Amino acid sequence: MVRVTVPIPGRPYDVCVGSGLIPAAGTLLPELPGAVTAFVVADRTVSAKWFEPLANALASAGLGAVLFVVPSGEDAKTLQVYETVLHQLATQEAHRADPVVALGGGAVGDLAGFVASTYMRGVPFVQVPTTLLAQVDAAIGGKTAVNLPEGKNLVGTFAQPRLVIADVDALATLPDREFRSGLAEVAKYALTLDLELLEALERDPGSVLARDPAMLEQLVTRCVSAKARTVSEDERDDGVRLILNYGHTLGHALERLDAFAGRSHGEAVGVGMVFAARLSEDRGIAAPGLAGRTVRLLSSLGLETDGPLADPDAILAAFRLDKKYRGGVRFVLLEDVARPVVVDDVTDDELRRVLETMGARV
Ligand code: NAD
Repeated sequence: MVRVTVPIPGRPYDVCVGSGLIPAAGTLLPELPGAVTAFVVADRTVSAKWFEPLANALASAGLGAVLFVVPSGEDAKTLQVYETVLHQLATQEAHRADPVVALGGGAVGDLAGFVASTYMRGVPFVQVPTTLLAQVDAAIGGKTAVNLPEGKNLVGTFAQPRLVIADVDALATLPDREFRSGLAEVAKYALTLDLELLEALERDPGSVLARDPAMLEQLVTRCVSAKARTVSEDERDDGVRLILNYGHTLGHALERLDAFAGRSHGEAVGVGMVFAARLSEDRGIAAPGLAGRTVRLLSSLGLETDGPLADPDAILAAFRLDKKYRGGVRFVLLEDVARPVVVDDVTDDELRRVLETMGARV
């Protein structure tokens, strides 16, 4: 097992990464004085497999475990589900010292984190992420949220967990599409922040796709370390954390234009990273070759790298709706791998030109 500390000033916490960690959760938990019961939030799929081993582990640490089953995916991130979980906590007489535990993907983590940070003005929160995306990204950094009909993640808090337990064994049952979606975020960390990770992925994509536990432990650890460094410098997401949005400006636009029914988040981010690499080359920020390397990496991980794209004008309009829009669209670009820069002077003409090359071979 590897322990990575997220050094948020005043509230540091550990992310434990490895195999066999859910059954060992009782030995990993920090002191939770006065805690009697852990309230575990999970959907049906994940709770069927992992609630019992987690409950046994919590029992060994002297904690009871109560399960709240919530809907899967984005359906968990509503004010109605949030309210239901709050009522359940109150009915069960959850105490201020009792932890809320998120067991599942990023959606369950976002919901349970919001519950934990607001019930009784905040109770201890533990993340047990079970998707690759949640292990490398969503469970670290302290952003919690539910959606409104008007848009995603419009209500939430910044609230850091006490501990994150990333058990790579949970990834064995993840559907392929969910796994690949997480791989797009892994590729993002590699391309923007971690040359060693990039070279490891390029050397042996086969072990990644075969979900070799040692490979998964290595790549989750490296991504967690990269995210930990970034969020500790910028807890409230108004500085260097922007780099973690590499590929996401076009990614979000594609998701929105597909009405969330087309590409998955990761698939859209993959295409977005190819676009960002091409834009970096087109501006002369990066030497030719960056886009080609990006395409080869993503293809080797089973990710899409180009078309069909929506009409460039529709994409430009969607860029303007992006929450990073501040008079101009901000893009994270690369001078080279692991050398990110943020630019906000990209013109519509440049964007249109690069969008029109998407779909062509690099
Ligand atoms: P998800 O939470 O929507 O889960 C996807 C599906 O995977 C669900 O159906 C779930 O039942 C299933 N699943 C989970 N673990 C499984 C396992 N081990 N085996 C089999 N099936 C399993 O997907 P996600 O990609 O983890 O998270 C996406 C969410 O995360 C979005 O809501 C996004 O907004 C959020 N997010 C938050 C942050 C943050 O910083 N808070 C960052 C990135 C994404």
